[in-house]
Amino acid sequence: MTNKNQIEKLLQEQELTDFKWIDPKDIVVAQWVRVKCYFGCSDYGLGSCPPNTPSVSECERFFKEYKSALLIKLNKFADKDAYPSDWSREMTNKLLSVERAVFLLGHPKVFLLNQTCCTLCNDCSGNRLDCHDKRNARPSPESFAVDVYQTVQNAGMKINVVANNPGDMNRIAILLTE
Ligand code: SF4
Repeated sequence: MTNKNQIEKLLQEQELTDFKWIDPKDIVVAQWVRVKCYFGCSDYGLGSCPPNTPSVSECERFFKEYKSALLIKLNKFADKDAYPSDWSREMTNKLLSVERAVFLLGHPKVFLLNQTCCTLCNDCSGNRLDCHDKRNARPSPESFAVDVYQTVQNAGMKINVVANNPGDMNRIAILLTE
């Protein structure tokens, strides 16, 4: 990885300090994650969520095309009944600006799996063709069938189910770099 230090500096400039480099082949992809999108997730059908994402096998293939990735962990004390939307939007903007800067460093393949389902608009189109912000809409790791808990734990980072409300919430983004 030629620009590793420069990429870490970009993250630090955005105060994204909790991250770890991983080999994308260690990203755990599982069918059960997709099933949980279909049943039990209130975001199902948003423009960058299933069924508007590749199949699970296509997601597996996609990750195999990369040699290097960053797991980026965000932490926020939050109330699930009053989701911190402003904070989430700010984090998305920071991550998108890092993705753009990494591209300009000479990484044309860079791709962000965002820390949340795409919620850039209040009136999501519910499909890719009519998306109101095609440049900035990004899928979450979960919508690409990533078993986030297992992937993060395998990388030696801590992640917890939020048992108390309000409580410490972890959000995970993945930046695939090359
Ligand atoms: S940018 Fe807007 S329309 Fe497009 S997926 Fe995100 S919320 Fe939906």
